[in-house]
Amino acid sequence: MDRVECVVVGAGVVGLAVARRLALAGREVVVLEQAAAIGTGTSSRNSEVIHAGLYYPTGSLKARLCVAGKALLYDFCLSRGVAFQRLTKLLVATEPAHHAKLVAYHRQAGLNGVHDLVWLSAAEARALEPELVCEEALLSPSTGIVDSHGLMLALQGDAEDHGAAIAFKSPATGGRVGPRGHEIFVGGAEPTRLACSVLVNCGGLHAQDLAARLDGLDPATVPALTLAKGNYYALSGCRVPFRRLVYPMPEDGGIGVHITLDLAGQARFGPDVEWTDAIEYSVDPRRADGFYASIRRYWPGLPDGALVPAYAGIRPKLVGPGGGLADFVIQGPQVHGVPGLVNLYGIESPGLTSSLAIADQVAAVIDTADP
Ligand SMILES: Cc1cc2nc3c(=O)[nH]c(=O)nc-3n(C[C@H](O)[C@H](O)[C@H](O)COP(=O)(O)OP(=O)(O)OC[C@H]3O[C@@H](n4cnc5c(N)ncnc54)[C@H](O)[C@@H]3O)c2cc1C
Repeated sequence: MDRVECVVVGAGVVGLAVARRLALAGREVVVLEQAAAIGTGTSSRNSEVIHAGLYYPTGSLKARLCVAGKALLYDFCLSRGVAFQRLTKLLVATEPAHHAKLVAYHRQAGLNGVHDLVWLSAAEARALEPELVCEEALLSPSTGIVDSHGLMLALQGDAEDHGAAIAFKSPATGGRVGPRGHEIFVGGAEPTRLACSVLVNCGGLHAQDLAARLDGLDPATVPALTLAKGNYYALSGCRVPFRRLVYPMPEDGGIGVHITLDLAGQARFGPDVEWTDAIEYSVDPRRADGFYASIRRYWPGLPDGALVPAYAGIRPKLVGPGGGLADFVIQGPQVHGVPGLVNLYGIESPGLTSSLAIADQVAAVIDTADP
Protein backbone atom coordinates (compact mmCIF):
# COMPACT_ATOMS: atom_id res chain seq x y z
CA MET A 1 0.00 0.00 0.00
CA ASP A 2 1.28 3.50 -0.89
CA ARG A 3 1.80 5.84 2.04
CA VAL A 4 1.74 9.64 2.16
CA GLU A 5 1.71 12.05 5.07
CA CYS A 6 -1.41 14.10 4.15
CA VAL A 7 -4.36 13.38 1.89
CA VAL A 8 -6.68 16.23 0.96
CA VAL A 9 -9.94 15.18 -0.69
CA GLY A 10 -11.24 17.73 -3.21
CA ALA A 11 -9.55 20.16 -5.58
CA GLY A 12 -12.02 23.02 -5.20
CA VAL A 13 -10.80 26.36 -3.92
CA VAL A 14 -10.79 25.15 -0.31
CA GLY A 15 -9.01 21.83 -0.94
CA LEU A 16 -6.40 23.61 -3.07
CA ALA A 17 -5.87 26.29 -0.41
CA VAL A 18 -5.49 23.60 2.25
CA ALA A 19 -3.08 21.57 0.09
CA ARG A 20 -1.02 24.71 -0.55
CA ARG A 21 -0.96 25.62 3.14
CA LEU A 22 0.16 22.13 4.22
CA ALA A 23 2.76 21.91 1.42
CA LEU A 24 4.15 25.35 2.35
CA ALA A 25 4.56 24.03 5.91
CA GLY A 26 6.77 21.27 4.51
CA ARG A 27 4.24 18.47 4.66
CA GLU A 28 3.92 15.79 2.00
CA VAL A 29 0.51 16.20 0.32
CA VAL A 30 -1.59 14.29 -2.19
CA VAL A 31 -4.92 15.76 -3.33
CA LEU A 32 -7.55 13.28 -4.49
CA GLU A 33 -10.02 14.77 -6.97
CA GLN A 34 -12.79 12.72 -8.54
CA ALA A 35 -13.18 15.04 -11.55
CA ALA A 36 -10.70 15.44 -14.38
CA ALA A 37 -9.83 19.05 -13.49
CA ILE A 38 -9.65 21.49 -10.58
CA GLY A 39 -12.65 23.57 -9.55
CA THR A 40 -15.48 21.82 -11.35
CA GLY A 41 -17.79 21.99 -8.29
CA THR A 42 -19.17 24.95 -6.36
CA SER A 43 -15.92 26.86 -6.77
CA SER A 44 -16.75 27.58 -10.41
CA ARG A 45 -20.47 28.16 -9.81
CA ASN A 46 -20.69 31.23 -7.63
CA SER A 47 -20.72 35.05 -7.77
CA GLU A 48 -16.92 35.42 -7.54
CA VAL A 49 -17.41 38.17 -4.99
CA ILE A 50 -14.77 38.96 -2.38
CA HIS A 51 -17.11 39.59 0.53
CA ALA A 52 -16.42 42.23 3.14
CA GLY A 53 -17.89 40.26 6.09
CA LEU A 54 -20.98 42.29 6.98
CA TYR A 55 -23.65 39.73 7.67
CA TYR A 56 -22.24 36.97 9.84
CA PRO A 57 -22.79 36.67 13.61
CA THR A 58 -20.04 37.99 15.87
CA GLY A 59 -17.30 35.46 16.55
CA SER A 60 -18.64 32.90 14.05
CA LEU A 61 -16.15 31.16 11.77
CA LYS A 62 -17.88 32.85 8.82
CA ALA A 63 -17.29 36.30 10.33
CA ARG A 64 -13.69 35.66 11.38
CA LEU A 65 -12.55 33.72 8.32
CA CYS A 66 -14.29 36.02 5.84
CA VAL A 67 -12.64 39.16 7.23
CA ALA A 68 -9.23 37.48 7.61
CA GLY A 69 -9.61 35.67 4.28
CA LYS A 70 -10.51 38.87 2.42
CA ALA A 71 -7.23 40.51 3.46
CA LEU A 72 -5.22 37.37 2.67
CA LEU A 73 -6.97 37.03 -0.68
CA TYR A 74 -6.30 40.60 -1.84
CA ASP A 75 -2.61 40.18 -0.89
CA PHE A 76 -2.43 36.79 -2.60
CA CYS A 77 -4.02 38.10 -5.80
CA LEU A 78 -1.61 41.05 -5.88
CA SER A 79 1.46 38.91 -5.31
CA ARG A 80 0.47 36.15 -7.77
CA GLY A 81 -1.05 38.26 -10.51
CA VAL A 82 -4.56 36.83 -10.05
CA ALA A 83 -7.13 39.17 -11.62
CA PHE A 84 -9.40 41.02 -9.20
CA GLN A 85 -11.13 44.41 -8.86
CA ARG A 86 -12.25 46.29 -5.76
CA LEU A 87 -15.53 47.27 -7.41
CA THR A 88 -17.22 48.13 -4.07
CA LYS A 89 -20.81 47.22 -3.24
CA LEU A 90 -24.04 49.00 -2.42
CA LEU A 91 -26.35 47.29 0.06
CA VAL A 92 -29.66 48.98 -0.69
CA ALA A 93 -32.82 49.60 1.33
CA THR A 94 -35.74 49.61 -1.09
CA GLU A 95 -38.45 50.39 1.48
CA PRO A 96 -38.45 52.47 4.68
CA ALA A 97 -38.83 49.35 6.81
CA HIS A 98 -35.35 48.27 5.67
CA HIS A 99 -33.73 51.11 7.63
CA ALA A 100 -33.59 49.02 10.81
CA LYS A 101 -31.93 46.19 8.87
CA LEU A 102 -29.27 48.50 7.46
CA VAL A 103 -28.59 49.78 10.98
CA ALA A 104 -28.23 46.18 12.17
CA TYR A 105 -25.85 45.26 9.33
CA HIS A 106 -23.80 48.39 9.93
CA ARG A 107 -23.48 47.44 13.59
CA GLN A 108 -22.74 43.79 12.79
CA ALA A 109 -20.05 44.81 10.30
CA GLY A 110 -18.36 46.92 12.99
CA LEU A 111 -18.44 44.00 15.43
CA ASN A 112 -16.84 41.85 12.71
CA GLY A 113 -14.03 44.36 12.26
CA VAL A 114 -15.40 45.97 9.08
CA HIS A 115 -15.26 49.69 9.88
CA ASP A 116 -15.23 51.25 6.42
CA LEU A 117 -18.97 51.21 5.54
CA VAL A 118 -20.36 54.55 4.33
CA TRP A 119 -24.02 55.61 4.79
CA LEU A 120 -25.54 57.05 1.62
CA SER A 121 -28.83 58.88 1.22
CA ALA A 122 -30.99 58.02 -1.79
CA ALA A 123 -29.58 61.07 -3.62
CA GLU A 124 -25.97 60.14 -2.79
CA ALA A 125 -26.52 56.59 -3.96
CA ARG A 126 -28.14 57.85 -7.15
CA ALA A 127 -25.22 60.19 -7.76
CA LEU A 128 -23.00 57.10 -7.86
CA GLU A 129 -25.43 54.89 -9.80
CA PRO A 130 -28.00 57.00 -11.69
CA GLU A 131 -30.34 54.07 -12.51
CA LEU A 132 -30.53 52.89 -8.91
CA VAL A 133 -33.71 53.45 -6.94
CA CYS A 134 -33.52 53.08 -3.16
CA GLU A 135 -34.40 54.75 0.14
CA GLU A 136 -30.78 54.71 1.33
CA ALA A 137 -27.73 52.46 1.07
CA LEU A 138 -24.52 51.29 2.69
CA LEU A 139 -21.40 51.45 0.54
CA SER A 140 -18.85 48.72 1.21
CA PRO A 141 -15.46 49.85 -0.15
CA SER A 142 -13.66 46.55 0.55
CA THR A 143 -16.01 44.34 -1.53
CA GLY A 144 -14.55 43.15 -4.82
CA ILE A 145 -14.57 40.43 -7.46
CA VAL A 146 -11.96 37.82 -8.31
CA ASP A 147 -11.18 35.46 -11.16
CA SER A 148 -11.98 32.27 -9.26
CA HIS A 149 -10.34 29.99 -11.80
CA GLY A 150 -7.19 32.12 -11.86
CA LEU A 151 -7.16 31.94 -8.08
CA MET A 152 -7.41 28.15 -8.10
CA LEU A 153 -4.67 27.84 -10.72
CA ALA A 154 -2.39 30.00 -8.57
CA LEU A 155 -3.16 27.90 -5.47
CA GLN A 156 -2.48 24.72 -7.44
CA GLY A 157 0.79 26.18 -8.76
CA ASP A 158 1.99 27.10 -5.26
CA ALA A 159 1.01 23.72 -3.86
CA GLU A 160 2.76 21.83 -6.66
CA ASP A 161 5.86 24.05 -6.42
CA HIS A 162 6.08 22.90 -2.80
CA GLY A 163 5.80 19.24 -3.65
CA ALA A 164 2.06 18.55 -3.53
CA ALA A 165 0.59 16.22 -6.14
CA ILE A 166 -2.97 16.22 -7.46
CA ALA A 167 -4.46 12.92 -8.58
CA PHE A 168 -7.39 13.57 -10.94
CA LYS A 169 -10.16 11.05 -11.67
CA SER A 170 -9.41 9.66 -8.22
CA PRO A 171 -12.56 9.49 -6.10
CA ALA A 172 -12.09 8.72 -2.41
CA THR A 173 -14.79 6.09 -1.98
CA GLY A 174 -14.34 5.33 1.71
CA GLY A 175 -11.75 4.19 4.17
CA ARG A 176 -10.79 3.42 7.72
CA VAL A 177 -9.70 6.12 10.15
CA GLY A 178 -8.15 5.67 13.56
CA PRO A 179 -5.56 6.80 16.09
CA ARG A 180 -2.71 5.00 14.32
CA GLY A 181 -3.42 6.50 10.89
CA HIS A 182 -5.89 6.20 8.09
CA GLU A 183 -6.41 4.08 5.01
CA ILE A 184 -8.28 5.68 2.10
CA PHE A 185 -9.94 3.73 -0.69
CA VAL A 186 -9.45 5.34 -4.08
CA GLY A 187 -11.56 4.34 -7.08
CA GLY A 188 -14.47 2.04 -7.73
CA ALA A 189 -14.77 -1.73 -7.99
CA GLU A 190 -11.19 -2.59 -7.01
CA PRO A 191 -10.02 0.44 -5.07
CA THR A 192 -6.40 1.36 -4.53
CA ARG A 193 -5.52 1.85 -0.87
CA LEU A 194 -3.59 4.85 0.31
CA ALA A 195 -2.29 5.18 3.87
CA CYS A 196 -1.90 8.59 5.51
CA SER A 197 -1.58 10.18 8.91
CA VAL A 198 -3.58 13.31 8.05
CA LEU A 199 -6.85 13.30 6.10
CA VAL A 200 -8.64 16.55 5.27
CA ASN A 201 -12.08 16.14 3.73
CA CYS A 202 -12.80 19.17 1.50
CA GLY A 203 -15.42 17.35 -0.56
CA GLY A 204 -17.90 20.25 -0.65
CA LEU A 205 -21.33 18.88 -1.59
CA HIS A 206 -19.98 15.34 -1.10
CA ALA A 207 -18.17 15.86 2.22
CA GLN A 208 -20.91 14.18 4.27
CA ASP A 209 -21.10 11.30 1.81
CA LEU A 210 -17.39 10.55 2.22
CA ALA A 211 -17.47 11.04 6.01
CA ALA A 212 -20.31 8.52 6.23
CA ARG A 213 -18.06 5.97 4.47
CA LEU A 214 -15.18 6.36 6.90
CA ASP A 215 -15.09 3.35 9.19
CA GLY A 216 -14.00 4.53 12.65
CA LEU A 217 -15.76 7.91 12.47
CA ASP A 218 -18.84 8.24 14.68
CA PRO A 219 -21.73 8.88 12.23
CA ALA A 220 -23.37 11.10 14.85
CA THR A 221 -20.64 13.69 14.19
CA VAL A 222 -21.65 14.03 10.51
CA PRO A 223 -24.21 16.85 10.11
CA ALA A 224 -27.17 16.48 7.77
CA LEU A 225 -26.79 18.13 4.36
CA THR A 226 -29.50 20.22 2.69
CA LEU A 227 -29.07 21.53 -0.84
CA ALA A 228 -30.04 25.06 -1.86
CA LYS A 229 -29.59 25.80 -5.53
CA GLY A 230 -28.75 29.35 -6.57
CA ASN A 231 -29.76 30.25 -10.15
CA TYR A 232 -28.19 33.05 -12.18
CA TYR A 233 -29.49 35.03 -15.14
CA ALA A 234 -27.40 37.05 -17.56
CA LEU A 235 -28.37 40.31 -19.23
CA SER A 236 -29.00 40.19 -22.94
CA GLY A 237 -29.59 42.97 -25.45
CA CYS A 238 -28.75 45.90 -23.17
CA ARG A 239 -25.80 47.22 -21.21
CA VAL A 240 -25.79 47.06 -17.44
CA PRO A 241 -25.90 50.64 -16.16
CA PHE A 242 -24.06 49.85 -12.87
CA ARG A 243 -20.36 50.05 -12.06
CA ARG A 244 -20.71 48.65 -8.55
CA LEU A 245 -22.22 45.46 -7.15
CA VAL A 246 -25.76 46.09 -5.96
CA TYR A 247 -27.28 43.93 -3.20
CA PRO A 248 -30.81 43.97 -1.80
CA MET A 249 -31.57 42.83 1.76
CA PRO A 250 -30.67 39.17 2.44
CA GLU A 251 -33.44 36.54 2.21
CA ASP A 252 -33.92 33.15 3.86
CA GLY A 253 -31.05 30.93 2.68
CA GLY A 254 -29.14 33.55 0.67
CA ILE A 255 -27.97 37.14 0.50
CA GLY A 256 -30.47 38.24 -2.12
CA VAL A 257 -30.66 38.41 -5.92
CA HIS A 258 -27.87 40.88 -6.56
CA ILE A 259 -26.18 42.40 -9.56
CA THR A 260 -22.66 41.21 -9.87
CA LEU A 261 -20.21 42.04 -12.58
CA ASP A 262 -17.45 39.84 -13.87
CA LEU A 263 -13.96 41.04 -14.73
CA ALA A 264 -15.04 41.60 -18.34
CA GLY A 265 -17.81 43.94 -17.12
CA GLN A 266 -20.64 41.51 -17.96
CA ALA A 267 -23.57 41.53 -15.54
CA ARG A 268 -25.29 38.56 -13.97
CA PHE A 269 -28.13 38.44 -11.51
CA GLY A 270 -28.55 35.92 -8.75
CA PRO A 271 -28.42 33.70 -6.91
CA ASP A 272 -31.96 32.99 -5.77
CA VAL A 273 -32.71 30.18 -3.34
CA GLU A 274 -34.26 26.96 -4.67
CA TRP A 275 -34.31 24.17 -2.08
CA THR A 276 -33.65 20.89 -3.88
CA ASP A 277 -32.84 17.21 -3.38
CA ALA A 278 -30.61 16.78 -6.43
CA ILE A 279 -27.21 17.99 -7.54
CA GLU A 280 -28.36 19.22 -10.93
CA TYR A 281 -27.40 22.54 -12.52
CA SER A 282 -30.02 23.40 -15.16
CA VAL A 283 -31.69 26.82 -14.81
CA ASP A 284 -35.47 26.76 -15.21
CA PRO A 285 -36.45 29.70 -17.49
CA ARG A 286 -39.76 29.97 -15.60
CA ARG A 287 -37.93 31.37 -12.58
CA ALA A 288 -37.31 34.59 -14.54
CA ASP A 289 -40.56 36.18 -13.29
CA GLY A 290 -39.27 36.18 -9.72
CA PHE A 291 -35.98 37.70 -10.89
CA TYR A 292 -37.68 40.59 -12.71
CA ALA A 293 -39.72 41.36 -9.59
CA SER A 294 -36.70 41.27 -7.26
CA ILE A 295 -34.38 43.30 -9.49
CA ARG A 296 -36.95 45.95 -10.40
CA ARG A 297 -37.23 46.90 -6.71
CA TYR A 298 -33.83 48.59 -7.12
CA TRP A 299 -33.53 48.80 -10.92
CA PRO A 300 -36.99 49.65 -12.32
CA GLY A 301 -35.42 50.25 -15.73
CA LEU A 302 -34.67 46.55 -16.30
CA PRO A 303 -36.21 45.97 -19.77
CA ASP A 304 -38.70 43.17 -20.42
CA GLY A 305 -37.07 40.12 -21.99
CA ALA A 306 -33.54 41.13 -20.96
CA LEU A 307 -32.85 38.20 -18.62
CA VAL A 308 -31.58 34.88 -20.00
CA PRO A 309 -30.80 31.77 -17.93
CA ALA A 310 -27.05 31.56 -17.26
CA TYR A 311 -25.84 28.99 -14.72
CA ALA A 312 -26.47 27.64 -11.23
CA GLY A 313 -24.49 26.64 -8.16
CA ILE A 314 -25.55 24.62 -5.14
CA ARG A 315 -24.99 25.59 -1.51
CA PRO A 316 -24.07 22.77 0.91
CA LYS A 317 -26.43 23.92 3.67
CA LEU A 318 -26.45 22.61 7.21
CA VAL A 319 -29.93 23.99 7.90
CA GLY A 320 -33.10 23.81 5.84
CA PRO A 321 -35.72 26.43 4.93
CA GLY A 322 -36.33 28.89 7.76
CA GLY A 323 -33.39 27.47 9.71
CA GLY A 324 -31.43 30.72 9.77
CA LEU A 325 -27.68 31.02 9.36
CA ALA A 326 -25.48 28.00 10.02
CA ASP A 327 -21.76 28.46 10.50
CA PHE A 328 -18.92 26.73 8.65
CA VAL A 329 -17.97 23.49 10.39
CA ILE A 330 -14.26 22.65 10.52
CA GLN A 331 -14.34 19.51 12.59
CA GLY A 332 -11.19 18.09 14.14
CA PRO A 333 -10.31 15.51 16.80
CA GLN A 334 -11.70 17.68 19.60
CA VAL A 335 -15.18 16.91 18.25
CA HIS A 336 -14.94 13.50 16.60
CA GLY A 337 -12.00 12.06 18.56
CA VAL A 338 -9.97 10.81 15.56
CA PRO A 339 -6.44 12.28 15.50
CA GLY A 340 -5.29 13.53 12.10
CA LEU A 341 -8.78 13.84 10.59
CA VAL A 342 -10.41 17.15 9.65
CA ASN A 343 -13.85 17.24 8.02
CA LEU A 344 -15.18 20.46 6.49
CA TYR A 345 -18.95 20.78 6.25
CA GLY A 346 -21.27 23.54 5.08
CA ILE A 347 -18.61 25.55 3.26
CA GLU A 348 -21.07 27.78 1.43
CA SER A 349 -20.65 31.54 0.91
CA PRO A 350 -18.32 33.21 1.87
CA GLY A 351 -16.12 30.14 1.31
CA LEU A 352 -14.34 31.54 -1.74
CA THR A 353 -13.41 34.73 0.11
CA SER A 354 -12.44 32.76 3.21
CA SER A 355 -10.46 30.00 1.48
CA LEU A 356 -6.96 31.07 2.57
CA ALA A 357 -8.11 31.68 6.14
CA ILE A 358 -9.95 28.34 6.19
CA ALA A 359 -6.64 26.73 5.16
CA ASP A 360 -4.88 28.42 8.09
CA GLN A 361 -7.60 27.21 10.43
CA VAL A 362 -7.30 23.62 9.15
CA ALA A 363 -3.52 23.77 9.59
CA ALA A 364 -4.01 25.02 13.16
CA VAL A 365 -6.38 22.13 13.94
CA ILE A 366 -3.82 19.64 12.58
CA ASP A 367 -0.90 21.29 14.39
CA THR A 368 -2.79 21.37 17.70
CA ALA A 369 -3.50 17.67 17.48
CA ASP A 370 0.07 16.90 16.32
CA PRO A 371 2.31 16.24 19.32
C1 LIG B 1 -24.64 30.13 -5.71
C2 LIG B 1 -23.38 30.35 -4.91
C3 LIG B 1 -22.79 31.62 -4.87
C4 LIG B 1 -21.64 31.83 -4.13
N1 LIG B 1 -21.02 33.05 -4.17
C5 LIG B 1 -19.90 33.25 -3.45
C6 LIG B 1 -19.24 34.50 -3.49
O1 LIG B 1 -19.60 35.39 -4.26
N2 LIG B 1 -18.16 34.69 -2.69
C7 LIG B 1 -17.72 33.72 -1.84
O2 LIG B 1 -16.79 33.98 -1.07
N3 LIG B 1 -18.30 32.49 -1.82
C8 LIG B 1 -19.35 32.24 -2.61
N4 LIG B 1 -19.94 31.00 -2.63
C9 LIG B 1 -19.34 29.94 -1.82
C10 LIG B 1 -18.13 29.31 -2.51
O3 LIG B 1 -18.35 29.11 -3.89
C11 LIG B 1 -17.83 27.96 -1.82
O4 LIG B 1 -17.76 28.16 -0.42
C12 LIG B 1 -16.52 27.35 -2.26
O5 LIG B 1 -16.41 27.32 -3.66
C13 LIG B 1 -16.42 25.94 -1.71
O6 LIG B 1 -15.25 25.35 -2.19
P1 LIG B 1 -14.94 23.83 -1.86
O7 LIG B 1 -13.56 23.60 -2.32
O8 LIG B 1 -15.28 23.57 -0.43
O9 LIG B 1 -16.03 23.00 -2.68
P2 LIG B 1 -16.07 22.58 -4.23
O10 LIG B 1 -15.66 23.68 -5.10
O11 LIG B 1 -17.42 21.99 -4.46
O12 LIG B 1 -14.96 21.47 -4.33
C14 LIG B 1 -15.13 20.17 -3.81
C15 LIG B 1 -14.34 19.25 -4.68
O13 LIG B 1 -14.26 17.98 -4.06
C16 LIG B 1 -14.38 16.99 -5.06
N5 LIG B 1 -14.82 15.78 -4.35
C17 LIG B 1 -15.93 15.64 -3.61
N6 LIG B 1 -15.98 14.43 -3.06
C18 LIG B 1 -14.88 13.77 -3.49
C19 LIG B 1 -14.39 12.46 -3.28
N7 LIG B 1 -15.03 11.58 -2.48
N8 LIG B 1 -13.21 12.10 -3.85
C20 LIG B 1 -12.53 13.00 -4.64
N9 LIG B 1 -12.99 14.24 -4.89
C21 LIG B 1 -14.14 14.63 -4.31
C22 LIG B 1 -15.38 17.57 -6.02
O14 LIG B 1 -15.29 16.95 -7.30
C23 LIG B 1 -14.97 19.03 -6.05
O15 LIG B 1 -14.00 19.28 -7.04
C24 LIG B 1 -21.08 30.76 -3.38
C25 LIG B 1 -21.67 29.48 -3.42
C26 LIG B 1 -22.81 29.28 -4.20
C27 LIG B 1 -23.41 27.92 -4.27
